[in-house]
Amino acid sequence: MADLSQRLPENAEGPFFVDTTCIDCDTCRQIAPATFGETGDYSFVKLQPESPDELRAACRALVACPTGSIGAADKSGIPAAVRQFPFPLAPRLSYCGFNSRKSFGGNSYFLEHPGGNWLIDSPRFVEHLARRFEEKGGIRYIFLTHRDDVADAAKYAERFQAERIIHRLELSAQPDAERVLDGFEPVELAPGFLAVPTPGHTRGHCVLLAEGGFLFSGDHIWWSRNRGRLTASRDVCWYSWREQVASVRRLESYSFEWVLPGHGARAHFPPGEMARQLSRLVEAVAA
Ligand code: SF4
Repeated sequence: MADLSQRLPENAEGPFFVDTTCIDCDTCRQIAPATFGETGDYSFVKLQPESPDELRAACRALVACPTGSIGAADKSGIPAAVRQFPFPLAPRLSYCGFNSRKSFGGNSYFLEHPGGNWLIDSPRFVEHLARRFEEKGGIRYIFLTHRDDVADAAKYAERFQAERIIHRLELSAQPDAERVLDGFEPVELAPGFLAVPTPGHTRGHCVLLAEGGFLFSGDHIWWSRNRGRLTASRDVCWYSWREQVASVRRLESYSFEWVLPGHGARAHFPPGEMARQLSRLVEAVAA
């Protein structure tokens, strides 16, 4: 839990605060942008929540924060915020919340499907989420985009007897994964689900293209709120920027409406507009 004695001086006066343990993962700013701002090194409460919607969002951010860095004087809204996860984003698609410190606060997603439900990257293992997944029919597949965002995937796999899928070049993070992808050609994992290798951020990074227009993009591309466009970053490219640029170009072969990243903001556009946004990104990274 956040420590009032470590409260950051930038916080606006009032019940919510961020303490010095913040790792600047951006999760709270994605969930409650009206409440949380950024100094460049960490988040802080820029405005205390006023409306009921803002209050609920701030409580969800508190629950999702991977480091327990958000505090609230009044905790009465927290049980209801816990119950809101997994948080619906679209029919069949939810954001799991409960981001894990092990993945530097990476986002994870739950996709319901008649052929078996999917977990994409992993949240913290918490009993509340496991029970909610159970109520929705369990987890059949756990797609791991790359080594950094596996978090508690092994625990969810054990609980649900799920099949973890990861590229061989990322296997050090999940050595006992049930299904290992090889090479750099797209692989159909199940009808309507395509793994597309996108080396760059890491060597074996893959994205998942799922029916319904969902691109689970891991740390390959994401939406930048500051730039107002899709982006990829050389600063967090651990393997090869040249390969990452080629991998971004590779996505132009596919049609999708959603970009659902591990880190960074989500994007949702009709397919034509998403294709235009992707072309802008290709131009930007090539430059
Ligand atoms: S979610 Fe927590 S760790 Fe992440 S930026 Fe906000 S306060 Fe910091």
